[in-house]
Amino acid sequence: MPTVPNRISQKVTHFTESVIREMTRLAFQHEAINLAQGFPNFPAPEEIKKAACQAIQDDINQYAITWGAPGFRRAISDKYREMYDWEIDPERELTVACGSTECMISSILALVNPGDQVLVFEPFYENYGPDAIIAGASPVYISLDANRDWTFDFQELEQKIQDAQSGGGIRALILNTPNNPTGKVFSLEELGKLSELAQAYDFYVITDEIYEHIVYDDHKHYPIALFPGMKDRTITISGLSKTFSVTGWRIGYIIAPEDLTDGIRKIHDFLTVGAAAPLQEAGVKAMQTRGQYYEKLASEYRQRRDYLVDVLQDIGFKVWIPAGAYYIMVEISPLTDLDDVQFVDQLIKNYGVAAVPGSSFYHRPELGRRFIRFAFCKTQEVLREAAERLQRLRD
Ligand code: PLP
Repeated sequence: MPTVPNRISQKVTHFTESVIREMTRLAFQHEAINLAQGFPNFPAPEEIKKAACQAIQDDINQYAITWGAPGFRRAISDKYREMYDWEIDPERELTVACGSTECMISSILALVNPGDQVLVFEPFYENYGPDAIIAGASPVYISLDANRDWTFDFQELEQKIQDAQSGGGIRALILNTPNNPTGKVFSLEELGKLSELAQAYDFYVITDEIYEHIVYDDHKHYPIALFPGMKDRTITISGLSKTFSVTGWRIGYIIAPEDLTDGIRKIHDFLTVGAAAPLQEAGVKAMQTRGQYYEKLASEYRQRRDYLVDVLQDIGFKVWIPAGAYYIMVEISPLTDLDDVQFVDQLIKNYGVAAVPGSSFYHRPELGRRFIRFAFCKTQEVLREAAERLQRLRD
């Protein structure tokens, strides 16, 4: 009789369940306010919800074309032309998939061979580790330095790229800007230098830009695909989840050169066949949104950010003020000798607020032991209630 561990593939034994989603379950169990997982608790835009209901009533209820409903792909292409002056062929360079989550794994599976090395900035959104393992890739980590405002050392990066050459070289860089969990928005200069390295050492960039519209103060989001020489070696991922507060809809899309798109579409087709057809119709409405909606989205998130940053600083955490996305990384050492996991456990059970232990964003858990991450994609009332509960940490 085989033992249980032998019944699952080796791959699966190399990663754990998502810590973020585990925190959500714990929060639910202990009736804690969930500042762990990044989903808004406020309603999605009325017009987009109406469009989804209408599409179901109109009986757009069968499979869409596997790589995306034509109208949705055209609407995405129109948005990028107007917003970024970026010409995308909706027939050949766009694939719709089930959230950016599927976009990322389909792209990695389409591009990366088992044994290939991929660069990943660390701390990283926790899906990227398992994604790389599932594809059989070897991640090479580049640290974003908390002590230097999440910047990184280009010399160290280039050295790692050169070291990787004996093993066949770097195949791709996984980028995420605006960044989860750090709130970093990669600067024009950083992206320019990364583009130069990608061309000099001939690797691809897979960029997760799901928070493209959630950027604060003077920071600006730049798609790396638009840097000179980069369109042909960049896979850009975004989606509806964060911009339109519909994380449960699972609608994302991938912009890539035609040959890569061909590969990605094949993987996507056999993984999931397609994203929800009526929700892609609603996606047309979403993509037709312009100007003011995005400004309001960012400015409302800025107010939530400022509020929670003040609360956390007041309590005594060391806080990194995010330049984008909707998370705040804090250092817990000024408040406790507990590690990140023990501290979050206590926060949930004794204070009724859930956060994410920092170690889940690092390949070596010890690197993240002094950090935890709070999400602030919640209404002011919920944030106020969470603040009241957290104030008790000062007692
Ligand atoms: N990428 C990043 C960086 C995220 O933070 C998240 C969600 O938290 C996702 C992707 C998931 O996006 P989607 O809902 O489109 O799958």
